[in-house]
Amino acid sequence: MYKDTDCGTLRKSDSGKSVTVAGWVHRRRDHGSLIFIDLRDRSGILQVVFNPETSIRAYEMAGALRSEWVVQIEGVVKQRLPGAENPQLATGEVELAASGLRTLGPARTPPFEVSDDIDVDELTRMTYRFIDLRRPKMQKMLRLRHDTTRIIWDHLSERGFLQVETPILIKSTPEGARDYVVPSRVHPGKFYALPQSPQQLKQLLMVSGVERYFQIARCFRDEDLRASRQPEHTQLDLEMSFVHQEDVLELVEGLYRRITTETRPDVNVEIPFPRIRYREAMDRFGTDKPDIRFGLELKTLTEAAGRSGFRVFESVVASGGVVRGFAAPGCGGYTRRQTDQLAEIARSSGAQGLITIALSADAESVETLTADDVRSPIKSSVSLDTVKEIARQTGAAPGSLILIVAGPEKTVNTVLSILRNEMGQRLDLIDPRTFRYAFVTDFPLFEMDAESEQWTPAHHVFSAPQPGHEDYLESDPSKVHGQLFDLVCNGWELGSGSIRIHDRGVQERVFGVIGYGKEEAESRFEHLLRAFEYGAPPHGGMGLGLDRLVALLANESSIREVIAFPKTQAASDPLFDAPWTISEEQLEELHIRILEA
Ligand code: ASP
Repeated sequence: MYKDTDCGTLRKSDSGKSVTVAGWVHRRRDHGSLIFIDLRDRSGILQVVFNPETSIRAYEMAGALRSEWVVQIEGVVKQRLPGAENPQLATGEVELAASGLRTLGPARTPPFEVSDDIDVDELTRMTYRFIDLRRPKMQKMLRLRHDTTRIIWDHLSERGFLQVETPILIKSTPEGARDYVVPSRVHPGKFYALPQSPQQLKQLLMVSGVERYFQIARCFRDEDLRASRQPEHTQLDLEMSFVHQEDVLELVEGLYRRITTETRPDVNVEIPFPRIRYREAMDRFGTDKPDIRFGLELKTLTEAAGRSGFRVFESVVASGGVVRGFAAPGCGGYTRRQTDQLAEIARSSGAQGLITIALSADAESVETLTADDVRSPIKSSVSLDTVKEIARQTGAAPGSLILIVAGPEKTVNTVLSILRNEMGQRLDLIDPRTFRYAFVTDFPLFEMDAESEQWTPAHHVFSAPQPGHEDYLESDPSKVHGQLFDLVCNGWELGSGSIRIHDRGVQERVFGVIGYGKEEAESRFEHLLRAFEYGAPPHGGMGLGLDRLVALLANESSIREVIAFPKTQAASDPLFDAPWTISEEQLEELHIRILEA
């Protein structure tokens, strides 16, 4: 070994010991008669002193050291002189009096400092990821990620789960995204598809009698990237046989509580996680991934708005739209500029506009409001009674600002859920030390794709309808709800799952709804359909995003911050400069000709 001691472990009680340490030169300070370096390894930082009286050779060599050189140092641990201690460092009471120095790896001047407070663009950080990852914050992140997967392994192994690896080179496993494909050299003109998730494989494992499976699985999806998406992401994939929905939820609840409390002892997790039906989530929060750390719940005002006499409301209602809103307490004094900002958020999220009603804090109650207590662009268009009714329905008190959006239901909900989160932030209602997990359940099984006017699976095509709902598969797919569930936390979707279809006939009918004829279904899924004919147990499970979970635990908003080697939002890797071209010979071997762009 090049070292017998880790830098960050030395304390006063080690004084007098001879040690050999190795690491990176964090900083060098030349005081003329003495040279100090801070030596850094994974465990922390140690101050090293080079004194010509201890070793003239080591002192002279130390003069050449620069940041990020890798060195090995021998010396004796000494207690620092009184007044020279550094309380910022765990090793701050000691220093190493160096007697020997060896350079193991010189370094060019790094493009940025190895420190948590750097101001560097992300591309540079990604190009020099091997330096970026040396920063304490990133080291902590790698440890957190490791701990998270270790707890998953422990928790699930203790409960009889088997980890099984599944192939990466496979056939399309549709989950609503485009596939990444790999050309086959051996089979000209044929391609493997990288798995969007091990969905069908884990179902086949259930038919194989595994009963409880998990895998920390890589999933590949070629889709347009957003902050929380990557071309490849990691998922905790799990599947269980002989279970009902509630069995899966209880397992996941226990696991997530344990991960959270063990990695973030400072946060507060309440169990049981509430089970919120999809319809209820949309009604109360306007989204299927609600942040339930705060209230500001949405209310439907369609009826009152429809008879308010205000033309905009009436025409929205007449054309089948809705009017919804919520009250933000204490914001009745918002200035025009502040309400304009909110209106801008509403418009950029898809609304035609935002209607606000501000109630004066001086009013005694909503019932005794006078016209003077109300500030609103619709004040002259609606009666005071309508204002009172809206105030009552939204639960507004004097001093509140009521935010109202009118339009198609989907848009209204999207916009209001964004405004609700905005007001939650502005009103400081969001406690960062609270993790509020919830399961959203009872999703519709299908969604109508506006472009193709075709039913598409809301989750994926393997999820089972709720008992009795099969009857509507052919007659009215909009009525079919699935045994589908999502895990959400603090406004993030952390994963989805379902009880699966395990009957060939039902699976074929579901394929039928989304427009796969018998032939197409067989050519794509015969392996699964056939397996269902040879004794398939009832089964269900979940796929849970590991990157998102670690980002949540690390308090990061982008998953790129918690992936060792992430890709940019343009799906490229600046470190390897991938994707890249391949040689003519490789193309030839793969039977591929590139068309001019
Ligand atoms: N395969 C699904 C997904 O990746 C999760 C599941 O249903 O288990 O979203």
